[in-house]
Amino acid sequence: MMQSVDIAIVGGGMVGLALAAAFKDTELRVAVIESREPETELADLPDVRVSALSRSSENILRNLGAWQGIESRRCAPYSAMEVWEQDSFARIEFDAKKLAQPDLGHIVENRVIQLALLDQVKQQSNVLLFMPAKCQSMAIGESEAWLTLDNGQSLTAKLVVGADGANSWVRKQQDIPLTHWDYGHSAIVANVWTAEAHQKVARQTFTPQGPLAFLPMGESNMSSIVWSTEPNRADKLVAMSDVEFNKALTAEFDARLGLCEVVGQRFAFPLKMRYARDFAVERVALVGDAAHTIHPLAGQGVNLGLLDAAGLAQEVTALWQQGEDIGTKRNLRGYERWRKAEAAKMIAAMQGFKDLFSGGNPAKKLIRGIGMTMVGQLPGAKDEIMKRALGLKGDLPILAQRSKSSVI
Ligand SMILES: Cc1cc2nc3c(=O)[nH]c(=O)nc-3n(C[C@H](O)[C@H](O)[C@H](O)COP(=O)(O)OP(=O)(O)OC[C@H]3O[C@@H](n4cnc5c(N)ncnc54)[C@H](O)[C@@H]3O)c2cc1C
Repeated sequence: MMQSVDIAIVGGGMVGLALAAAFKDTELRVAVIESREPETELADLPDVRVSALSRSSENILRNLGAWQGIESRRCAPYSAMEVWEQDSFARIEFDAKKLAQPDLGHIVENRVIQLALLDQVKQQSNVLLFMPAKCQSMAIGESEAWLTLDNGQSLTAKLVVGADGANSWVRKQQDIPLTHWDYGHSAIVANVWTAEAHQKVARQTFTPQGPLAFLPMGESNMSSIVWSTEPNRADKLVAMSDVEFNKALTAEFDARLGLCEVVGQRFAFPLKMRYARDFAVERVALVGDAAHTIHPLAGQGVNLGLLDAAGLAQEVTALWQQGEDIGTKRNLRGYERWRKAEAAKMIAAMQGFKDLFSGGNPAKKLIRGIGMTMVGQLPGAKDEIMKRALGLKGDLPILAQRSKSSVI
């Protein structure tokens, strides 16, 4: 059966679902096509895929009505952050209280974010959910696009949105060129029990091999780690016994929280920078990882993606209210310019951080130490950095600005 919608979102991950939820107060007809149905039951042990959500993401999720579904499932606010360089005096700390903030962000399992958004989207009468279903073909016509799904159904839409992740099928179907490079790192993710309590502090150390982050989870001695290191070493670290891994991890982290013990499985993800040349072509727009991927060292990937979703929803709603065609490249140019510029700034910042902290050259180390000490002492400099990390700087979509139910 052929169904007709205004917007077909391919990919019902965190970003695709946030986009669908952002049309909740409109009459736009939306379809979401997601190939994998997430398991609704959470295990006692958190999933290993987590995100550090910034204040702007919290605002978006609150404004979409999904924050309650996150809090009622599981999330962990963190109140301070410590960053230091291994074997150096370079060190900087951020404290929510000193910055007059209730917290610096939340660590949330990706599946929890997805499930909370799914609760919202399922309540929207303007959303058709195809899950599990995969897109099989796409054709672009003059005034609409045609999609066929692997369950035999077909759709027409004025706009197709690729929210289908780093290896986006939509991006490939449209032959949208990609600028990409390898970060020369794989990131190991795992749950780790530490002898000392984390005290709601997010910690990251920069070693000559790459950054290692301990993100505090709800339990006082449980952290989620993101350990970025050279790919061969990452493979070895994933393959070694738990005992060997624990030893290596404790040493790499300067035993900052005492002995570490990995709990459950660990996985390694190769890290690549990707930047689509076009975020919008005729009848198609890209959001989230389909449009860009960055190094997780500052935990900004999905934060950037949620801003894309909020930005695209804002632009498309405005076009629709003005009676304009929501799918032409010309009309989507505003979205493209806006979000491409924001993504480019973030890509440059991540590369800058990675280059600044790579290698153990003593002169470079000294400069890093002096730089961090100066930032820590200069009035206003820390606030400025933190406002950026909280996502409260830059050209924010309305949904990302302070929410009615937010605490600050
Ligand atoms: C190790 C690591 C740590 C990270 N830590 C952080 C962090 O702390 N903070 C942060 O902000 N970001 C972080 N990120 C980045 C973050 O995980 C991604 O930016 C985020 O997952 C992107 O969300 P998305 O919805 O765009 O894509 P995805 O999460 O990849 O979702 C895409 C969805 O599309 C579906 N799909 C794909 N193809 C099709 C198809 N043809 N038809 C139907 N459905 C399809 C998939 O099943 C999936 O559900 C991290 C990344 C890594 C690798």
